[in-house]
Amino acid sequence: MTTDLAPILTAITAQLRRRRDRGVLPRYIAPLAAVDPRKFGLAVLEADGRMHLAGDAEEPFSIQSISKVHALTMALETVGSTLWTHVRQEPSGSAFNSITQLESEHGIPRNPFINAGAIVVTDQLITRLGRQQARHDFLAFMRSLTDDGASVRYDEAIARAEYDSGFRNVALANYMRTFGTVQNNTSAVLRQYFHQCALTMTCRQLAESGRFLMTGGRAPSRRGMAIASRTARTVAAVMMTCGHYDGSGSFAVRVGLPGKSGVGGGILAIVPGIASIAVWSPGLNEQGNSLLGTEALELLVEATGWSVLGRA
Ligand code: GLU
Repeated sequence: MTTDLAPILTAITAQLRRRRDRGVLPRYIAPLAAVDPRKFGLAVLEADGRMHLAGDAEEPFSIQSISKVHALTMALETVGSTLWTHVRQEPSGSAFNSITQLESEHGIPRNPFINAGAIVVTDQLITRLGRQQARHDFLAFMRSLTDDGASVRYDEAIARAEYDSGFRNVALANYMRTFGTVQNNTSAVLRQYFHQCALTMTCRQLAESGRFLMTGGRAPSRRGMAIASRTARTVAAVMMTCGHYDGSGSFAVRVGLPGKSGVGGGILAIVPGIASIAVWSPGLNEQGNSLLGTEALELLVEATGWSVLGRA
């Protein structure tokens, strides 16, 4: 039975646009604190190629930590499984920028989706590719995953704002350097990490960028080459267990899909074999995940039965 998605998306958008409590904008990145909290976009790409859009789905926003999905993918494809000697695959149960576990765990971050782990992934890409090539290749990779890639870009103002105020990330990188987990100049690693976070994309483009996760690695874009099925499966597994920081468990209960959030208010979620979904609502919950974005996914899954864990 096929579900008619258009009315479902319209109803979810109308319902959530009326919400008064829209969560809190992140204050520690000035340009993100200035975004209109009423924005709401939803894009669903189905396996047969049909794209459904609602609300502000064509408006670019800062994807922030959703880029950790793509950086991990690129690292697994270029560095290979030795990546897992530098970062683990376990949920952290801690805040996205936590430093505490690093001391007891010998400088090895718990997973590639907390900030410490993502900084390590970026460091590994720089070791393999060099600074400039890593900057260039990551953007080229993101563009190759979307159908109109030319408009995907690094927002230099956001990257600079994060570089100027991202003291916690500076601490994480330097602390890991003392263990040798980070191997390159920490300023260079952070510059690249902040650029990744400062990528600007629309919900439609983000949903396209998750196509390879929906298809198990095949045909990541209309023109793209395949990504190893093992990479796609691994990345989806880490999204399922670690994609929402210390809110990963409740996201699994409420939505039941592999997903990754960003502090810009976006979430990428995958229904294996069926759909790639991107949602954007800038206000965040206590764990730094989009408040209404999570609710939109919960409503969508309720209406479609798409949870990989069965119908509620
Ligand atoms: N650029 C943000 C930071 O490093 C990413 C955090 C997020 O999106 O959750 O703090």
